[in-house]
Amino acid sequence: MKFVVTAGPTREPLDPVRYLSNRSSGKMGYAIAAAALEMKHEVILISGPVALSPPSGAEVVRVTTGEEMFEAAAAHFAHCDVFVMCAAVCDYKPARYTSQKTKKQHRPFSLALEPTRDILASLTNSPHDCLVVGFAAETEELRESAQRKLREKNCDLIVANDVGRADIGMDSDDNELLIFFKKGAPEKLSRAKKTELARALLKIILEAREKCLTKKT
Ligand code: C5P
Repeated sequence: MKFVVTAGPTREPLDPVRYLSNRSSGKMGYAIAAAALEMKHEVILISGPVALSPPSGAEVVRVTTGEEMFEAAAAHFAHCDVFVMCAAVCDYKPARYTSQKTKKQHRPFSLALEPTRDILASLTNSPHDCLVVGFAAETEELRESAQRKLREKNCDLIVANDVGRADIGMDSDDNELLIFFKKGAPEKLSRAKKTELARALLKIILEAREKCLTKKT
């Protein structure tokens, strides 16, 4: 099967030397890509800027901004069987980019931001055949937010994780996942290394894909 996996943060530039970003390390997305490759699937890994080596065998598309990630994801979305949107896309970007470095001023400075395009929601807007997996990184109301995103972003599965805890989540080697489906009870994958969780998650994704295909035939 053909997987498209997005991973890592995006960077939204303000000027030639500054950007907005987040703490995403890319470890979860890279682990999912590696787990899919281990199971002999084809993987296109669309990666924001991270300090990781891609798993061998992946076709890697490197991007920086959310718009670049959208372009890359849109180019591959129609041709994959499973689309995993694990990237931590910035929700906002500077409203204006200045081509010269903004000078330091000795007074408060405010920055106008505008929302970025929601990549997942824009891709799932139109009919598609692939199984779509979204992620929800939350610090509160994990279940409610994840279930809302599952509906609003039209995903088949949403993988929720608590990024408010210091021992798991962003930039950690460990994670704990709660997986929500369109129907049925959520499944919990207890705290473990992201590499192990990715293998368990992959099994769940493949079962869900199998169910989708069975329904269509
Ligand atoms: O940021 P939010 O919690 O809404 O993200 C949930 C899901 O939506 C994640 O899978 C993330 O990759 C995706 N997302 C996106 N484009 C954005 C923001 C988030 O595709 N601009």
